[in-house]
Amino acid sequence: MIHIPFDNRFLQLGEPFFAKAHPAPVKQPALIQFNHALARELGMSVEDVSEAELAQLFSGNALPPGAMPVAMAYAGHQFGSFVPQLGDGRAIWLGEIRTANGARFDLQLKGSGRTAYSRGGDGRAALGPVLREYLVSEAMHRLGVPTTRALAAVATGESVARERDLPGGVITRVAASFVRVGTFEYFAARGDVAAVKNLADYVIARNYPELAAAQQPYVALLAAVIARQARLIARWMQLGFIHGVMNTDNMSIAGETIDYGPCAFMDGYRHQRVFSSIDRHGRYAYNSQPGIGLWNLVRLAETLVPLLAESTEDAVKIAQTHLETYQGQYEAAWLAGMRAKLGLTAGVDSDAQDKALIDALLDAMDANEADFTLTFYHLSRLGAGSPAQDHAIRGLFGRPAAFDHWAAQWRERLQREPQGEAARQAGMQAVNPVYIPRNHQIEAAIRAAEDRGDFSVFHALHAVLQNPYAEQAGKERYRLPPEPEEVVSKTFC
Ligand code: AMP
Ligand code: MG
Ligand code: MG
Repeated sequence: MIHIPFDNRFLQLGEPFFAKAHPAPVKQPALIQFNHALARELGMSVEDVSEAELAQLFSGNALPPGAMPVAMAYAGHQFGSFVPQLGDGRAIWLGEIRTANGARFDLQLKGSGRTAYSRGGDGRAALGPVLREYLVSEAMHRLGVPTTRALAAVATGESVARERDLPGGVITRVAASFVRVGTFEYFAARGDVAAVKNLADYVIARNYPELAAAQQPYVALLAAVIARQARLIARWMQLGFIHGVMNTDNMSIAGETIDYGPCAFMDGYRHQRVFSSIDRHGRYAYNSQPGIGLWNLVRLAETLVPLLAESTEDAVKIAQTHLETYQGQYEAAWLAGMRAKLGLTAGVDSDAQDKALIDALLDAMDANEADFTLTFYHLSRLGAGSPAQDHAIRGLFGRPAAFDHWAAQWRERLQREPQGEAARQAGMQAVNPVYIPRNHQIEAAIRAAEDRGDFSVFHALHAVLQNPYAEQAGKERYRLPPEPEEVVSKTFC
């Protein structure tokens, strides 16, 4: 029998933080993938559980002992407009896991049927987005980015009605918390300050225990969430990742990447690249992400105002003081990570000089639609002295002279580097991935699964992404951008 160390403290918050929910059974659950390593980390025991039983459990057809299924309530700003009631419409929280070292994680099914918050929706997920989330979230983890994890993917044997009928799936996700900025907004919009305070206390105890003893724990909470978001979004930017739907209901209070919908890693770089099929005006374009992060944090700060000081005026001032630090924290995290990508040690040239050098590279990449990941991959393997090996990287630029011009400045800068050539290259290769979950490969995995019930393409891609920074023999094709006919310009949730 499966054992999961549940300790469902979240339920002590009571309704209306959630509504009771029950997964709706599916016809023919079949296990696609189960993350045994993650299960072990969580202290779950599944040794004598068959694949068929895992499929029953992680489709929602059966519940593990101790699960207390609920749908979480939240509101959110969607594309800038406030929606006072959203909530888990196709996700069901199964419980809160407490690991042996005291860390806590939420376990959630997505695609497991209707809840009190489903409105017109069917509560189901198509297999394609389930596979995309599994691949991308696990890749993000391996790339070193804070993220929800994927524990299981199951095919339901049922079809879901989207633009056309599609096979259905259920993904089981694990998060440091599924509380979102939108969860705070839900209660703030109702004027329920006591609930906002309860929620803040819960989040502090759960995700920021070091703040419990602070002089002003709610101010400290706001500051800590700002800091985590600034660092998180800097990581996205350093990998060419576009979240796609940075609504406030998709921003985790714990600073993890959450709710992978129509997200994508860029191939050809454009400052304002958009993939999301639902982002019609490009609100969540690549270069807009840091600013949207701040916009969302302002929404969080607004909900906390009654907790920050006696008078509203003082509270707003305090909130502003902290929000004003976001840009600087983001820029510092971005610059540190980008310097590492280019092999530049801090303190040799000024921040402004190094930033100008980095921006010049991104501008040249933008003008030439150079492949984001491959540009840094090749750069990590170039010598500081001579352009003799520049052939491959020059080929990424429509006008190779744009690269040559930039590379001359970069090499001039490298002459002043204290680190030796080998150390510089090793450092760059440790932060510039060889493999990212490229859209056309995700698409190929989805196509094979949807059209032929063939999951081998998914499994092969997943295996490569387990080790994104190491060159893997025989896996060269996973490094490559799409052929013209393979290009994916839109992604769906
Ligand atoms: P998302 O765009 O995935 O962040 O979801 C926004 C809101 O719509 C959330 O409240 C979801 O639970 C809800 N939602 C999205 N798809 C469905 C669906 N198929 N059935 C019910 N609710 C849904
Ligand atoms: Mg969402
Ligand atoms: Mg979504």
